[in-house]
Amino acid sequence: MHEDHCTRCGACCAAYRVDFHRAELASCEAGGVPDAMAVQVTAMLRRMRGTDEAPPRCAALEGEIGRSVRCSIYSSRPSPCRDFAPYAALGIGDDACRRARLRHGLPPL
Ligand code: SF4
Ligand code: SF4
Repeated sequence: MHEDHCTRCGACCAAYRVDFHRAELASCEAGGVPDAMAVQVTAMLRRMRGTDEAPPRCAALEGEIGRSVRCSIYSSRPSPCRDFAPYAALGIGDDACRRARLRHGLPPL
């Protein structure tokens, strides 16, 4: 999630599974993802809690989607979140961003 457009959206945090390597956990690296926010998928893989529920919503997401949201672990978010739709903050979404927004009834950026 990014600032500006993204802080008024949050759709991608409630649309996709968010998986990452266990090395990104706080228990493995300083400043990493808080362990309590993740669930184990395999020996090496962790998933943001809530992102594979129905409907999905990351446990770290606060606020109302499409209005005002924030990631409660923004500075410690995992790599898929850092890499997602890199130009969305500038108002340029990609296909995954567009699909997430569509899922929540939001128009493409
Ligand atoms: S779906 Fe797109 S605009 Fe919405 S928070 Fe994610 S990257 Fe930002
Ligand atoms: S960790 Fe933060 S940026 Fe990543 S899916 Fe959860 S709320 Fe969104």
